[in-house]
Order: sequence, then C-alpha cells, then structure tokens
Amino acid sequence: MFTYCPSCAGKNISFNEKNRFFCPDCGFLYYHNTAAASGLVIATRNGLLFLIRGSEPACGKLDLPGGFVDPGEGLIEGLRRECREELGWDCGENLALFASFPNVYPYKGINYNTCDMFFSVDAPELTEQDLTLQTGEIGGCRFIREDKLCLDDLAFSSTVRAVKAFLTRKH
Ligand SMILES: [Zn+2]
Repeated sequence: MFTYCPSCAGKNISFNEKNRFFCPDCGFLYYHNTAAASGLVIATRNGLLFLIRGSEPACGKLDLPGGFVDPGEGLIEGLRRECREELGWDCGENLALFASFPNVYPYKGINYNTCDMFFSVDAPELTEQDLTLQTGEIGGCRFIREDKLCLDDLAFSSTVRAVKAFLTRKH
C-alpha cells in the first residue's frame, strides 16, 4: 500500500501483515484498521430484497443494501442513510441485529478488512414500485424467494454467511 513513508518519504516503512504500518526512520505509525459496515436483509412477501451491484468489486453480483459506516456515524444511522441512498426507502430504526462476519473488500488495489454487521427488517408489502434505486452504484434489484436463491450469485462471503444464518434462524 505504501512504497515510501507518507511522512518522511523514507524507504524503510514496513507492514506487519495485519494492520500496522511503521517507519523506523521518522516514527510514522499508521493502523489500517478494520472498517465497520452493515447489511440489511429486507423480508417481503415476494422474498428477500437483493441489489445488483453496478460497480466493482463484484459488479453484477447480488448484494444486500448497506455499506460502510461513515466517520461520526452510528451503525443504524449509517444503514438508514445507505438505504435512503441506494433504495430511496427509509428502513426505520427498528432493525434486528442477527449476525456479524468479517469480509475483505478489494477496492482500487487496496484490501479493506471490514467487520460486517447484519440486520433484518420485515417489510411484507414492499415492492419495486416503492423504491428509487441509486443510479450508477446499483444495477437493479431482485426480490428472491428462499427456494430460488443461489448463494453463488452473492457478492461477498460475509453476505453468504449472513443470508444462510438468516434463513436458518427463521425455521
Ligand atoms: Zn518516515
């Protein structure tokens, strides 16, 4: 990620293979920490709502609404914002946390380690007509019933684990 120290431009900067950059020449220290992210399982009468990713990584694959938490934001606050941005729909605050899994999100040559937290909400009447999908980032949406869902179509391993956990827990 860094060839030269961003502080002194020295070449001795090292990475500890986990999250720590250190430059012995000037003492520069940077923790590339795990980022918080969230995903929302929206359960409707027509199945679970998935978004088709419109950009990399995993363009064209299915994903849950959600994303990275912004600086200064709470987890649910961030998830509500993402739902408004991606779906044009307010998921409200009454969300149930049911699982958390780690993920690696590769973006423009940098791997971001994330801690993904997954919530669910019941919205039986929700249909595509209620949504205004974000252009660019989102390539479309699909309501998929459990028996029609192919986990290989999902973008990230954490999402696969979360959807499995959600479906298992429901029975
Ligand atoms: Zn330095």
